Amino acid sequence: MAEETLFSKIVRREIPADIVFQDHLVTAFRDIAPQAPTHILIVPNHVIPTINDVKASDEAALGRMFTVAAKLAEEMGIADDGFRLIVNTNEHAGQEVFHVHMHLLGGKPLGPMLS
Ligand code: ADP
Repeated sequence: MAEETLFSKIVRREIPADIVFQDHLVTAFRDIAPQAPTHILIVPNHVIPTINDVKASDEAALGRMFTVAAKLAEEMGIADDGFRLIVNTNEHAGQEVFHVHMHLLGGKPLGPMLS
């Protein structure tokens, strides 16, 4: 049994979240502290702690994260103006929840990527 994370509780709907998409591979929900007008987190339903831990057997879920990001960007009207996808890994990137998550950010000019 994979370890428990905050996001696996959201996936199983054990704690509340504004879920905007879910299938058997991934779940997407609004970030609780949005950094842009649109800020969605897309996570694999199963726990992968960090990108350092990905395996070939995770590829279906990881690929689905991108197709869901594109679908949600289109539905939320941010596809044409543009958006940013971010996946942080470990301390230097500021990762705090050890369940891989892709940030989908858009709805305003986002400025330079690196700081
Ligand atoms: P990073 O921003 O580097 O990915 P974190 O691992 O801390 O770093 O990211 C966790 C993200 O999850 C943050 O953007 C935070 O606002 C968001 N978050 C934390 N708890 C919840 C929650 N209960 N519902 C939705 N989003 C959450």
